[in-house]
Amino acid sequence: MKTIIAKADTGREEVFALAGTILKKGGLVAFPTETVYGLGGDALRADAAHKIYRAKGRPSDNPLIVHIADTGSVYELASGVPKEAELLMEAFWPGPLTIIFHKKQIVPDTTTGGLDTVAVRMPAHPAALKLIRDSGICIAAPSANLSGRPSPTTARHVIEDMNGRIDMILDGGPVGIGIESTIVDMTEEIPTILRPGYISPGQIEALLGNVRLDPALEHPEALLRPKAPGMKYTHYAPRGELTIVEGKTDRVVEEINRLTDAHEAQGHVTAVICGTENRYRYHSAHVLDAGSRSHDITVSSALYRLLRECDTLGAEYIYSESFIDGEMGYAIMNRLMKAAGHRIINVEEDRI
Ligand code: AMP
Ligand code: MG
Repeated sequence: MKTIIAKADTGREEVFALAGTILKKGGLVAFPTETVYGLGGDALRADAAHKIYRAKGRPSDNPLIVHIADTGSVYELASGVPKEAELLMEAFWPGPLTIIFHKKQIVPDTTTGGLDTVAVRMPAHPAALKLIRDSGICIAAPSANLSGRPSPTTARHVIEDMNGRIDMILDGGPVGIGIESTIVDMTEEIPTILRPGYISPGQIEALLGNVRLDPALEHPEALLRPKAPGMKYTHYAPRGELTIVEGKTDRVVEEINRLTDAHEAQGHVTAVICGTENRYRYHSAHVLDAGSRSHDITVSSALYRLLRECDTLGAEYIYSESFIDGEMGYAIMNRLMKAAGHRIINVEEDRI
C-alpha cells in the first residue's frame, strides 16, 4: 500500500478533505495529537478497528481510545454519563485526559477490545480537532507505533513504523507532551486512574474530591491484572538492557560511569539517559540528553525519542537517571519503569 504523507497545516483544506474521505471509506490516517501520534480509523466501523489492530500488530483485546471534537458525541457513544465526568470534561477537554464510560451498542466490540466500556478523549491539537470535525467521524485511535515499540512523538517515528501499512500520515511536527493521556475510569464507584499522564491525580482530586489509583499501578510487582488492558503489555522496551539508577546525584553519576566503563571495556555499546544538568559528567560514548529537570515537559516529550535512539545506536546496556521529582514525575517514571522492566539500582541502598 502506498502511504500518502502530508503536512498537517490546518490551512490546507485539501489535505483534510482527503484524510476525511479516507476515514469515511474505512481507511486509516495517522495524525498528531498533543500527547503522541494516533493511528485513526472510524470508531463505529468494526472493519476499521480490525485494520488498526492489523497495522500495529496489536492484540485485539487491547481497546482503542475514541477521539471526539464535541462533548455532545459523548452522549452518542456512552450511557449513564455521571455528573463528575461532566466536570472533568469541562475542566480538562480539549486536553490529555481520557475518560472511561459504559458504552452504547453503537460502538462495536472490536473498537473496545470486547469490553462493555468505551474510552473517550477530546484532543487539544488543532490538526486532530480539524480532522475529527471536518470528517464528521469519531476517530478510534491507539498510538501510531508498531506494537511493542515506543509511541511516536514525531511524524518520522510514524513513518518508520507505518509506511506502507496505512493510507495516510499527517505530519504535524514534534508533539508537545510526548507521553500518552491520563486515563480515568468513571464507571467505578470511586474515580480510578488507570494510566498516569500529564493530568495528575492531584488535579483530578482537586476537582472531584475523590480519586484512587488502579492497584495494579501502585503495586506492579504484585502482578495484579490492570484494568486498562494496554498497561499489561511490556510496551516501550528498547532492545538493549535498560536500568534506572536512582539516589543522590553524585553517587548516581559515579555508579553509571563505573557500569558503562566496565561494559565498554568489554566491547559493548552503552548509552546514558540523563538530565541536561549532568550532560557532561558521563563517560559513555552515547549520552542522551532528556532536557532540563527544571522543565519536566521537555523530559516527557523527549523520552520515547531517546528510547528509539537507543535502538538506532545499537545500545546493549542503557542506564537512565530517575526523573521522579517534577510535576509529571509519576507519569514519566511509570513509562520509564516499564521500559526498564522495573530494573532499578538504588545507590543509597547499595552502600549499606
Ligand atoms: P494507546 O493509545 O495506544 O495507549 O491505547 C489505548 C489504551 O487505552 C489501551 O492500551 C488501554 O489500556 C486503554 N483503554 C482503552 N479503552 C479502554 C477501556 N474501555 N477500559 C480500560 N482501558 C481502556
Ligand atoms: Mg500505545
